Amino acid sequence: MLERNRERNLGATGHRRDRNFERNSPAIETHATDWDATGWRTFYDERAAIAEHDGGLNRKRAERVAYETTIAEWCHLHPPNDDPDRCAACGSPIPLARGEWRPLSDNATVHYGGRWGLGCFRAHGANRRNEAIAALDLLDLTMPPELKV
Ligand SMILES: [Zn+2]
Repeated sequence: MLERNRERNLGATGHRRDRNFERNSPAIETHATDWDATGWRTFYDERAAIAEHDGGLNRKRAERVAYETTIAEWCHLHPPNDDPDRCAACGSPIPLARGEWRPLSDNATVHYGGRWGLGCFRAHGANRRNEAIAALDLLDLTMPPELKV
């Protein structure tokens, strides 16, 4: 297990995988951009089957889990604006000196705290989720009705 994690973190070359490595890697780039509707449907169906059969969930719940997992995968493969000088939510400059900002795990930077509160942080999450839902919808992978609010 440790060896597998080491390989995942360092890659086949033994060099630490950083964002530039992943962006410049043809294999990963192909994976990220070449999934068509069939690829996304296969990803979703596999997650639903795993959640149902291995996880013991009923079919509706397994489909909800699969859809949320598919949203997360889409967001992972389609990184947001990662300009550290601009808020990924509102596009305004980041006031670095005031500390009212946070770097996020998806490499975006958003206003956070102070006069900004949690508005940009929450908006970024909602924007990313909506982007994924819209993209998946175009591929005829629609949200299970139980998830629609
Ligand atoms: Zn902002």
